[in-house]
Amino acid sequence: MCGKLCRETEAAVAWCSATAAEKDYATAISGLEKFTWHGHCMYCGHCAPCTAGIDIAAVNKFRNLCPDDGPIPETVREHYRGLTHHASECVACGACENRCPFGVGIVEAMRRAAGRFGY
Ligand code: SF4
Ligand code: SF4
Repeated sequence: MCGKLCRETEAAVAWCSATAAEKDYATAISGLEKFTWHGHCMYCGHCAPCTAGIDIAAVNKFRNLCPDDGPIPETVREHYRGLTHHASECVACGACENRCPFGVGIVEAMRRAAGRFGY
């Protein structure tokens, strides 16, 4: 009677006891159409740790919440200010880019974020 529903329910509940590796979606997503995902930050955090201590995913997220033109939303500006380290602290070591499964140009992203936020 409940065959399909039971299987789906069991699969959903199994998520709760899955290991961190089993819940890691980055590898699966990165294997999808490269043109769709390549170069786009998914905020997954796999590029950490940053040599300079920058929270790269957060910087990318705040930068992407800013329009290219016009004022930066005050809430975004405040969240960026609250980061311990900022994009301008990037020393362009490239270590993070080797760890990014999505091929994000992080050094360039930090440079652009520093330019947009001013530091
Ligand atoms: S830069 Fe790459 S590894 Fe880092 S959060 Fe974005 S997608 Fe993930
Ligand atoms: S390239 Fe910049 S953002 Fe990436 S690990 Fe080095 S200092 Fe951090």
